[in-house]
Amino acid sequence: MPRRPPSPVLEASEQAGGWSALLRTRIDGPVRRLVVIFGDQLASDSPALEGIDPTRDVVLMMEVVGESTHVPSHRQRTVLFLAAMRHHAVTLHTRGVRVRYVTLDDVNSTGSIDGEVRRAALLLRPERIVLVEPGEHRLLAIARGWASTLGIPVDVLEDSHFLTTHARFASWANGRRDLVMEFFYRDQRKRLDVLMERGKPVGGEWNLDKLNRLPFGKLGPKPPPPLPLRFRPDEITSEVMRLVERVLPDLPGSAETFDWPVTREDALGALRDFITNRLALFGPYEDAMWTDEPFLYHSLLSAPLNLKLLSPRECIDAAVHAYEEGRAPLQSVEGFVRQICGWREFIRGVYWLEGSEYQDRNWLGHRGSLPGFYWNGDTDMACMRHCIEQVLSRGFGHHIQRLMVTGNFALLAGVHPKAVSDWYLGMYVDAIDWVTLPNTLGMSQHADGTEDRGPVVGTKPYISSGQYISRMSNYCGGCRFDPGARSGDDACPFTVLFWEFLDRHRDRLGANRRMGMMLRNLDRIAPKELAQIRVSASRIKERYGVDE
Ligand code: FAD
Ligand code: SF4
Repeated sequence: MPRRPPSPVLEASEQAGGWSALLRTRIDGPVRRLVVIFGDQLASDSPALEGIDPTRDVVLMMEVVGESTHVPSHRQRTVLFLAAMRHHAVTLHTRGVRVRYVTLDDVNSTGSIDGEVRRAALLLRPERIVLVEPGEHRLLAIARGWASTLGIPVDVLEDSHFLTTHARFASWANGRRDLVMEFFYRDQRKRLDVLMERGKPVGGEWNLDKLNRLPFGKLGPKPPPPLPLRFRPDEITSEVMRLVERVLPDLPGSAETFDWPVTREDALGALRDFITNRLALFGPYEDAMWTDEPFLYHSLLSAPLNLKLLSPRECIDAAVHAYEEGRAPLQSVEGFVRQICGWREFIRGVYWLEGSEYQDRNWLGHRGSLPGFYWNGDTDMACMRHCIEQVLSRGFGHHIQRLMVTGNFALLAGVHPKAVSDWYLGMYVDAIDWVTLPNTLGMSQHADGTEDRGPVVGTKPYISSGQYISRMSNYCGGCRFDPGARSGDDACPFTVLFWEFLDRHRDRLGANRRMGMMLRNLDRIAPKELAQIRVSASRIKERYGVDE
């Protein structure tokens, strides 16, 4: 059997000296502009840094306990944010920018962003506060409030990281009853001139998704996928790891395997590594899952993208370039481009368009509790155990694990969508409200509908019985349940709950033409067996603690 080479390791650049110098720098007021930079705003070309005057302006960066505890944030997610922030602060400091940096263990810390901006404003007496729009309605409301609570003008700048402005997305959405990602994506391809040839999509088709659903078959991925480039924690990151352990010992997950990119240089290395070693097979196996293979051919770029260490355009260009040079097939490159300039931008557009009350939607009326095993992986369902243990140890799961395993189970079982969204928001390294919420509440839980319009992100619920999981992974081979069985002691919980879900929501889903085939299959189940399925479903929910 071919042996897999070990993960290549990129040695982190040593910036520890710069970090201590930064902490020693004394900053006095009054200042002209207080430039607030949040942990997911680490672009070196951020609009907030434009025209920054090192003598008159000050950057404020804050590590605050409240941001890791308002939903319990995985250790790796917390370390990632703080380590990337510290490296960014050092880079700014080295460029001569004055940075006021509040550490997690600052004895005078108020523990909240609001409190820290107030503290800095009192000390530095800025004429204005400047920031790029945060990735969260909650933080935007807090920031807008500073003008009245502190009596200082606040400039909230549009985030130039994204390819689509709010105005452009709103104008695309205007007048459309349904927001269908595929049409948005085609417009993006044309507008941004990505994989286009004389006004037509390269290769003749817009979307090659139908080629991208291969399972691995019984033997699994052969040869094993190359392990991704790792980023050994340097002194700054190691110090953050110790700090998080000391100040926030109760956070979920483990930081032991932490090796995410935390600098722009690391992030560029991660992009090159993906394009060279995994992009070619990204497309065909995009939906496949395999035990002990958390990454397969995925890019792992969501975290550096969301922290703004990479720009979406450079990721797209790198993939298209690989196609043009014959290093990756169109089905992989189109698939990757669709995720970045289609899904990612669409999801963000929906988040801001739908407004802050979007988070309270619950179109299917689900009220169940999130089972306890989501926090420790202790369950007899092998697929759930594998995916959750992976999240606990890595802070990561790929798209189909999130959508068709952990998300699918919560949806079928009727867990409250807010409980599901909060879990995703805390547990994944790439989680930020603008991207997590529409993916979870919308795509995964089909909860984002309003009575007059129906769901926004998904044209139908992403649900499946155990048979889909069995086809796309090897999880079922090591499970005590039978994915094909919907009755009896060994009936797969996914399969039982799948039919019960369709039965329970038949009226609501009946109006959706895309659900026709599933509902016709439901109608073929004899009334006696359906009654048995209802009983089994309620026992399963009780056993796993999905109390309504
Ligand atoms: P790849 O599979 O290599 O895809 C390439 C890139 O495309 C990703 O890095 C990401 O930037 C982008 N992308 C792909 N799909 C989406 C999508 N649906 N929405 C936005 N961007 C997308 N993504 C996040 O970045 N943060 C989240 O908190 C998040 N939560 C999710 C929750 C659920 C329930 C689901 C179903 C999906 C979620 N996603 C989220 C989308 C997607 O699963 C991740 O972006 C992806 O798995 C990250 O791994 P990767 O970088 O290897 O992505
Ligand atoms: Fe998951 Fe069902 Fe397969 Fe077990 S049999 S791994 S519960 S899908």
